[in-house]
Amino acid sequence: MIPTASSDAQDDPAVVLDDVHKRYGETRAVDGVSMTVGRGEFFGLLGPNGAGKTTLVEIMEGQRKADSGTVTVLGTSPWPRNVALLPRLGVQTQTSAFFVRLTAREHLRTMAALYRVDSAAAERTLASVGLTEQGDTRVDDLSGGQRQRLAIASALVHEPELIFLDEPTAALDPQARRALWQVLRDLKGAGRTIVYTTHHLDEAEALCDRVAIMVDGRVAALDSPGRLIAAGSPTTRLLVPVGRMTLAQAQAIPGVDRATEEPDAIVLETLESGRVLVAVDEIAGLQGVRTRTASLEDVYLALTGTPQS
Ligand code: ADP
Repeated sequence: MIPTASSDAQDDPAVVLDDVHKRYGETRAVDGVSMTVGRGEFFGLLGPNGAGKTTLVEIMEGQRKADSGTVTVLGTSPWPRNVALLPRLGVQTQTSAFFVRLTAREHLRTMAALYRVDSAAAERTLASVGLTEQGDTRVDDLSGGQRQRLAIASALVHEPELIFLDEPTAALDPQARRALWQVLRDLKGAGRTIVYTTHHLDEAEALCDRVAIMVDGRVAALDSPGRLIAAGSPTTRLLVPVGRMTLAQAQAIPGVDRATEEPDAIVLETLESGRVLVAVDEIAGLQGVRTRTASLEDVYLALTGTPQS
């Protein structure tokens, strides 16, 4: 069980950014970002490498000073470094430091002591990320997925109101990723506010209330995954199993805008799926023909022109 967030000032947004800029020399890392993260929101920051996500998160965390613009986090300014704010924030990074010689439980108890919360909080947090059974395992001996969970637990042990997660499921196998999704969903269910960066668009689509897609220091799109997808390309993709029609035949069908070959299918992109399906039926039959609906990845590709890397 994850304790629910305290209800103080729940109506205030968790984060308000207004026209925030940050340059490194000639590089405009953050170039006029305005956005609001509501209390209790699960907010995803997406974008290719170099888009400015890390810089923006560091500004929100109070680790970096914006050149201009206003930054309000939990009703206060995170810069100059605001010691009253720090215990209200939870930060998990890719390079989370561990006391590797300690057991998972000892590690969390140490973190709890640093934050001056009791060791019962360590035990609760261990349970909330599903690590109770590994409590006596040395940090050194945890699997990659278990370490990621411990990193998240370390960011949670002091029950912060706002949690920053940096690619929490990076380098995990699909099963471990799914297990961690449940931990993240539980956090959201407990009313925590989460700002998280990820390279997994399927994950962002499944978990986030809203996402901001950053490109070159700017917010190229910001909305719920569902609304972004609905507002995106109305193109339908029809997948015809290989061997049933040639690429040339597919390209010649009136109404097909683009046809490409994938390992197991010819993919036809069209705005007129009914008309094209009739033609496909005549050439190849409809047995095994599938449609692929738009996803957040399509929206992302259209905005950034790059696959997530
Ligand atoms: P992301 O997290 O989306 O990959 P970053 O915020 O790390 O983006 O980087 C944004 C831009 O700022 C990139 O062009 C990057 O090279 C540059 N940059 C980031 N940190 C620094 C720094 N400390 N000094 C100079 N340039 C930096």
